[in-house]
Amino acid sequence: PSKQRLLVVANRLPVSAVREGVDSYHLEISVGGLFLSDSYIYCVKEFDTRWIGWAGVNVPDDVGQKALTKALAEMRCIPVFLDEEIVNQYYNGYCNNILWPLFHYLGLPQEDRLATTRTFQSQFDAYKKANQMFADVVNKQYEEGDVVWCHDYHLMFLPKCLKEYNDQMKVGWFLHTPFPSSEIHRTLPSRSELLRSVLAADLVGFHTYDYARHFVSACTRILGLEGTPEGVEDQGKLTRVAAFPIGIDSERFIQALELPEVQARMKELKERFGGRKVMLGVDRLDMIKGIPQKILAFEKFLEENSHWHDKVVLLQIAVPTRTDVPEYQKLTSQVHEIVGRINGRFGTLTAVPIHHLDRSLDFHALCALYAVTALVTSLRDGMNLVSYEFVACQASKKGVLILSEFAGAAQSLGAGAILVNPWNITEVAASIGYALDMPADEREKRHQFNFRHVKAHTSQEWAATFGFNATLTEPLDALGR
Ligand code: UDP
Repeated sequence: PSKQRLLVVANRLPVSAVREGVDSYHLEISVGGLFLSDSYIYCVKEFDTRWIGWAGVNVPDDVGQKALTKALAEMRCIPVFLDEEIVNQYYNGYCNNILWPLFHYLGLPQEDRLATTRTFQSQFDAYKKANQMFADVVNKQYEEGDVVWCHDYHLMFLPKCLKEYNDQMKVGWFLHTPFPSSEIHRTLPSRSELLRSVLAADLVGFHTYDYARHFVSACTRILGLEGTPEGVEDQGKLTRVAAFPIGIDSERFIQALELPEVQARMKELKERFGGRKVMLGVDRLDMIKGIPQKILAFEKFLEENSHWHDKVVLLQIAVPTRTDVPEYQKLTSQVHEIVGRINGRFGTLTAVPIHHLDRSLDFHALCALYAVTALVTSLRDGMNLVSYEFVACQASKKGVLILSEFAGAAQSLGAGAILVNPWNITEVAASIGYALDMPADEREKRHQFNFRHVKAHTSQEWAATFGFNATLTEPLDALGR
């Protein structure tokens, strides 16, 4: 039998395009934070898949658009062309300045708050317009029987646009961020319209039960609809709501550790930090990651444990992100300032306690680094894959994971990790001490627990479960659990 056709729609395609000439492009698989890259391979294998999204470049001319469309077609990708104005209002504005902070329980900075109130409507209009542009491309590709899988907070309006075009289309929508408490969602001026558009989907998925529960309560409290164990009901039409926690391709990491190149890097690191214990942070430099809080907790640990000076180092990889947004620029200087102060305070002629890098690493360098103790202090985080990847790389070291209770991963890796409230730096500092002194048998036990989970719940399985469920029209029972 021929494979089920699947149209995957996300703001960004799994490849980025750089224009090289009038009609030529260089294509690259996008890295970092991209849930799609792992499941990409899976989906291409299991389904007859097409990817629809923005390629990350502005292509105003016809010749360029045709050339890019052709280049992308080889990778089964279909571009949506967004102009600069739309990108600014829809992507930088409504998505990243309004929905992102709100869904992560972060208020806007005081000076932006009133300005945002005034520009809100035009940004929301641009958001709807952009979602319609994605819908137009999907509708053009759609063939009867296709399943359409919409991704993330950028495309909350898409299910509605699709169903308006064809109510027989099977539509799933998955959110990669937290869905906040209904009390937070209530403050959004467009709260009802957004919920109703998402509800147009047949299946709505989240990383955790809490997020799914928050969504259902928002629908009952704000729209007055009925929440059932399967989802949300509106005049006899059921939208199924369920948790589908994402995972990683754990084998890829486990196998990478055996590579000579990775082994050599691990040895290099060992020599470089000879004798010192390494604590590792790997985050995009985003407000939600709690990097300043983590560094302050590390300072407190040093303050209270002078016998650890010179014996421990915090290695923080801070991957630059959204660098043209002032908020993010401010965060960068704030972090640099704290790091400088602490290194000045506790550093010696030959060593500093914090190594902070504003850059990303390639896959092999990352694998080599993961073989230490990890510190994840997100203030809120949809899932946090870094913690999964860390666990996958610990087979021989059995390093400890200190993990924020506000990351979705806390619900799956909680039993093996040391869970912390990242706002409480006294608690995080104590956990650092606890982790550094943890006896081998406890480390082993904790590691086994998480390792089993990470191996069993992969990104492939996630894509399969969601993809399969999206093909169903019957209510869910024990699925996605
Ligand atoms: N990552 C990377 N290069 C780096 C640092 C991180 O490719 O230098 C990847 C990392 O392997 C992980 C992803 O970026 O897969 C981060 O995902 P996570 O869910 O932890 O956070 P997000 O950035 O999506 O908020």
